[in-house]
Amino acid sequence: MAGLAFSNVTHRFGQRIAVENLNIEIEAGEVVCLLGPSGCGKTTTLRLAAGLEILQQGRIDIGGRVVADERGSLAPEKRHVGLIFQDYALFPHLSILDNVAFGITRRDALVEAQAALDKVGLGDRGRSFPHMLSGGEQQRVALARAIAPRPAVMLMDEPFSGLDVRLRDRVRDETLALLASTGAAVLLVTHDPEEAMRRARRIALMRAGWVVQLGTPVEFYNRPADAGAARFFAEANAFAGIVGEGGRVETSVGGFAAPGLAPGARAEVLIRPHAIRIDDSGAGQSVRVLRARLLGADSLVEFSLGEGLPPLVARLTPPHLPPAGTEMRISLDPGQCFVFAA
Ligand code: ATP
Repeated sequence: MAGLAFSNVTHRFGQRIAVENLNIEIEAGEVVCLLGPSGCGKTTTLRLAAGLEILQQGRIDIGGRVVADERGSLAPEKRHVGLIFQDYALFPHLSILDNVAFGITRRDALVEAQAALDKVGLGDRGRSFPHMLSGGEQQRVALARAIAPRPAVMLMDEPFSGLDVRLRDRVRDETLALLASTGAAVLLVTHDPEEAMRRARRIALMRAGWVVQLGTPVEFYNRPADAGAARFFAEANAFAGIVGEGGRVETSVGGFAAPGLAPGARAEVLIRPHAIRIDDSGAGQSVRVLRARLLGADSLVEFSLGEGLPPLVARLTPPHLPPAGTEMRISLDPGQCFVFAA
């Protein structure tokens, strides 16, 4: 049974479509990351699930129960949903402990609130008031407040963005582990593909209100649905070409099979910087180094493919730092090269 399910949900603001025909099911205990550029409909999706936006079309189920369809909508406080938005608001006149206990209806509210504060590393700040805490600490209080009632569904909109990097990883891991242990279905909005790859069981990539691709991180990386999905994780080298009679598209870095594209179709070939390998076998393509920089565990090397042709950007692991002008041979990992209709 899905913890949270959107079925054919479409939402408009006036003429503008914010979410179109959205279908996502999140199992209890599962984390799904919602990724996508600004304005693609992520927040609207969360607000619809929370009941902060009245559903116009489609259906939303929580724990197997319809909470919104075209006939009606359950009030937000009756949905058993936790919310953590970027602009968390604590009650300024309540202590930290009372802020966290606020949404808990059980009799042991203060005990639960204290346990939640311990989890976010603020167990000793329960008697403080919000203005006595830093912004990052207040954000952790907001996290504690959202997890304390053990909601069936947790909706998070960039909830860790205000935390410094060191703290972010720890609080994020502990929060998600805690939610998983309570069996909450988590929908986590992020702008950070790496966060999505690391934390989500599945990723939903949205663009202009649509889910472009929904799948596991491995599926996303190995079989991106389109050029936008492929580019989401890292900028790629792009080459344009026309599909030939043999179903292949020829570029300045060689020919690629173009499955599903008809001869004559315009194609775009994307080559990830990590696809490029130094090939000392003598069989590789000849290139000339334009510049090379060390980035840490790998290096960024720009190759010239010849006069007038766009350069090819490679990330080489282990790092190579050849001087500009060096002639080298390279080959490509076909698993990191993709052909899409242009
Ligand atoms: P961001 O990453 O910038 O927060 P988002 O993906 O969360 O963006 P939404 O906030 O869901 O995007 O907005 C989706 C679209 O709906 C945008 O075009 C936005 O301008 C529009 N929109 C959102 N809320 C409203 C509103 N209350 N009234 C009118 N238009 C709105």
